[in-house]
Amino acid sequence: MAGDHFIVIGNGPAGSQAAFTLREKAPDAEVSIITREREGCCHSHLLPKFLAGTVSKKDLFAISFDDYIKKGIKLRTGQSIVNVDISKREVLLDHKEILPFSGLIIAVGGKPRIPEPLLVFKDLLYPLKSFSETTIWQKKLLNVDSILMLGGDLTSLAVTKALLTLEKKIYFMLNEDAFWPLRFNKTLYKEVSRKLTEKGVEVLTGLKIKSIARISEDVCRVRIDDQEIEAGLIGAFFGLVPDVKFLVRSGLQIDRGILVDEYLSTGIEGIYATGDCAQIYHPELHDYWISIGTKNAKALGRLAAVNLLGGMEKTKVSKESIFDIDGIKVNTSWWSEF
Ligand SMILES: Cc1cc2nc3c(=O)[nH]c(=O)nc-3n(C[C@H](O)[C@H](O)[C@H](O)COP(=O)(O)OP(=O)(O)OC[C@H]3O[C@@H](n4cnc5c(N)ncnc54)[C@H](O)[C@@H]3O)c2cc1C
Repeated sequence: MAGDHFIVIGNGPAGSQAAFTLREKAPDAEVSIITREREGCCHSHLLPKFLAGTVSKKDLFAISFDDYIKKGIKLRTGQSIVNVDISKREVLLDHKEILPFSGLIIAVGGKPRIPEPLLVFKDLLYPLKSFSETTIWQKKLLNVDSILMLGGDLTSLAVTKALLTLEKKIYFMLNEDAFWPLRFNKTLYKEVSRKLTEKGVEVLTGLKIKSIARISEDVCRVRIDDQEIEAGLIGAFFGLVPDVKFLVRSGLQIDRGILVDEYLSTGIEGIYATGDCAQIYHPELHDYWISIGTKNAKALGRLAAVNLLGGMEKTKVSKESIFDIDGIKVNTSWWSEF
């Protein structure tokens, strides 16, 4: 495989696992990872604890920069891919550099989802998905005492737990969109609502945001139906959606994520997609599913690398562990206890 250049886009659990597997199984090939983040591969599940100050920055990163160097993997941080040219077999970076590849694994994960009615307030909403977003939260928290949590996805409860340890006043707005990607049901809704209330969170149920006005750097006035509250920070937690907009002109098939078969192949020779950004065909369901969770992402990252190198391993997921949310089939390897 000397002369091959494999590029992995993304350095999350799926991308890093893919790169290390490529290195192990193709020792003579050149392996590069390109990632938008300036830092290394982050244990995203520890971000809430990092926010609470109970996990150090060192513990947050799964793989040290030295490990990439030792393995001869070229890690390019702080760089974004803005297009993939499948006929020329090149990727275009945001600073206009063009890199050729003989094999490509796309592992760009998800980005925070903001429901359509709230898009107008986007600049006032703070998601918490990456290390850099967590540091923004940390800075804001130095000056604010009250937080409004919107949404209620899997990460929001862990973040709320962290904020409670910081003794902040928390409003939590629960609605039918709250548990994405879990299916909304009354039992879950009541249970989460009860637990939040018990912990001292003020739960605002079944309401709609009418307006948000920023009245100072650290205070927003939020009108929710006929009620008005003031919050220093508004968190947006409506789940993650595949971050694949940059590929719409590439010729790769995009639906919600990048469409791939059960081997994670895009159908274009030597181009695979994996982790949270892939939408994977399930032959029994005759439909595509998406994955969420660190464990799934790592397993899928390894599989993409093995198959790029000529393997024929199929993704393994039981029909029963996939559930339907608004017509999208989701399989998740995690659910945080609150
Ligand atoms: C706060 C939080 C808590 C979580 N807790 C848990 C948990 O307890 N258990 C669990 O199983 N899961 C948890 N998750 C989910 C888990 O982190 C994800 O499912 C997992 O990280 C997905 O891995 P991935 O490699 O597919 O994508 P990601 O981890 O999202 O990595 C994507 C990578 O792609 C890069 N990228 C994106 N676009 C581009 C581009 N155009 N050019 C270059 N690079 C790009 C990003 O910079 C990043 O490096 C949590 C997530 C968050 C945000």
